[in-house]
Amino acid sequence: MTASTIDWHQRAGELRLDGRLVVDGRRRAACDGATFDKRSPIDGRVLPGIARGRAADVDLAVRSARQAFEDGRWRFQSPAERKKVLLAFAQRIVACADELALIETLDMGKPIARALDTDLPATARTIAWYAEAVDKLYDEVAPTGPHALALITREPLGVVGAIVPWNYPLLMAAWKLGPALAAGNSVVLKPSERSPFSALRLAELALEAGLPPGVLNVIPGFGDEAGEALAMHDDVDGIGFTGSTRVGRRMFEYAGRSNLKRVYTELGGKSAMLVFDDCADLDRAARAAAAGMFYNQGESCNAPSRLLVQRRIADRFMEALLAHAQHYQPDDPLLPATGMGALVDEAHTCRVLDFIKAGNSEGGHCLTGGRRVREGSGGCYLEPTVFDAVQPAMRIAREEIFGPVVSVLRFDSEAEAVAMANDSPYGLQAGLWSDDVHRAHRVARTLRAGTVHVNQYDEDDITVPFGGVKQSGNGRDKSLHAFDKYTALKTTWLRIDPA
Ligand code: NAD
Repeated sequence: MTASTIDWHQRAGELRLDGRLVVDGRRRAACDGATFDKRSPIDGRVLPGIARGRAADVDLAVRSARQAFEDGRWRFQSPAERKKVLLAFAQRIVACADELALIETLDMGKPIARALDTDLPATARTIAWYAEAVDKLYDEVAPTGPHALALITREPLGVVGAIVPWNYPLLMAAWKLGPALAAGNSVVLKPSERSPFSALRLAELALEAGLPPGVLNVIPGFGDEAGEALAMHDDVDGIGFTGSTRVGRRMFEYAGRSNLKRVYTELGGKSAMLVFDDCADLDRAARAAAAGMFYNQGESCNAPSRLLVQRRIADRFMEALLAHAQHYQPDDPLLPATGMGALVDEAHTCRVLDFIKAGNSEGGHCLTGGRRVREGSGGCYLEPTVFDAVQPAMRIAREEIFGPVVSVLRFDSEAEAVAMANDSPYGLQAGLWSDDVHRAHRVARTLRAGTVHVNQYDEDDITVPFGGVKQSGNGRDKSLHAFDKYTALKTTWLRIDPA
């Protein structure tokens, strides 16, 4: 049966979700038995029985992770053995892709087709890629002279706390787990309270693949309970955090107030895409802008939510943009043909609608969208929304909306465009469209962003680092650079006596 012939509604009805914690290789209830329910954004159905992890649960998980680390059941396995287990883990993800994709769709509203064709393959590939990397990394011998030998080795940090958001629940978890586990750490993973189920299932698959108990623990719960307890824990050696800039800031505070654990953050964005008048293929630029903006319901940290368009070509570009935006009308996420799904929940939908209201009241021109749709479904659906005539000081030009709303600002000169693009506390990604190779290089160099896309906006690969500058974070997920976050350099000096 292929994805397009599966009756996903029927599968959703048959699915049994398990919201209990995973600690020390076993499912268990929270220490105090507390649970919470959430509603699926696709139709409001209740997804019940999620364990409400709190400080006592985090403490149990950290103890289990510490024990697993200290007795070496994982870190002292050879790289080849760790690789074998992680490859088996990736294979389990592939084997259970339908189930995991369905969980993702029910939990946070993305279309089942996108979960299947993007999130699941990317999650499995991430784990497999780090598995493959681990027995190909060499340490160093320093050039110190004949009297001594200095070895520079990479060692796992110890117990890593991974705190992740809801927009790509599995993939964001995998970007942490891949390098952290491959390097030999033990991990306590805290998924978002808005999308806890897939991470719990993921941990079961890791155990089935042979990951020793205690090496990966998952504590669902709320940010100010489970999240804070994990980031404040004195026996956690490092935090890998992906989420908002507001909460990312707290991670450093928690570290400062506890054991000065390492903190790496991947935070929010307000990425600018610059379209210059020497771009011949405006339709292509508009298609890429719409895809970048409306993919995943606009709930992508790197969405090009500020479109900076040179005035001379702005009207032509807008015509093309509006045409492409129409392809992102939301529909039932469980239908295989649906390309745009539901926003994650009611509170977030109201927040995005507030931004739309602010855009209108501050003088932006809403050219399309701006309304809630499919209300009869009981779910959270918004039209793709395009604002023109946006000024740099408006809220919709400055703040991360994290929904299907794009702000178009017009500029006259290259210098003005660069200044506008860099006038943001964020620096996650940027894009530019120009057929002038000199301008492309010149502007790419001056844009303050972790990644700059030139004449495309969708290139992405596990081999390439992902992360930001300024208030978009200080870490890099993906690629071999991610090992820097989960390892510490050790120097070992050995005396060599002369003969
Ligand atoms: P969020 O910051 O609200 O939550 C992220 C995680 O932190 C969740 O697990 C949450 O429970 C936890 N948390 C919340 N408050 C906490 C607290 N006081 N102490 C400890 N933990 C706490 O973010 P979100 O709404 O889940 O995700 C959306 C944000 O994530 C956006 O800003 C988006 O740009 C960002 N994001 C960034 C990247 C990246 O790679 N840069 C990728 C995906 C998402």
